[in-house]
Amino acid sequence: MTEEILKAAAKEHGHECPGLALGLRVSEIASEVFGWEKIPEDLTVTADRPACYVDGIRFMTGCSPANGRISFRNDGRWAFVFSSSGRKISVELKSRPNFAAGREAMMESVLFGDRDELFNISDLV
Ligand SMILES: [Zn+2]
Repeated sequence: MTEEILKAAAKEHGHECPGLALGLRVSEIASEVFGWEKIPEDLTVTADRPACYVDGIRFMTGCSPANGRISFRNDGRWAFVFSSSGRKISVELKSRPNFAAGREAMMESVLFGDRDELFNISDLV
C-alpha cells in the first residue's frame, strides 16, 4: 500500500477516511492471498453494509454495488469476503479501530499496520 494509492482513491471518494483506507487494505490483502496479477473478472465481494470502505474496494478491484459485484450481509461484522474461481476468503478486522487515536492514526494503522495483527484471514472454501 502506498500514500499515492490513498490519495488517488480519496480523490474519487471525496475525502480521506479510515473506512476508505480499510477498503483499500482488505483488497490488497485479498490480492496477496489469492496471488492475483490482475483482478479476476469473476471476483465478487460481500461486506457488512454500504459504507466508505466500498469505494476503497471499488478502487482496488473494480467491484461495486452498481455492477453487482459487491453485496451486503448486514450482519455487523467487519469481515470482507472475496470470492473467485471457487475459492472464498474472509478478511476480518480483529478489533474496532481506536477512535480516540484520531483519524490520521487510524488510517495509518489500517493501511500500514501488521497484516496478521490487524486481520483474521481465513479460507472459507
Ligand atoms: Zn469516507
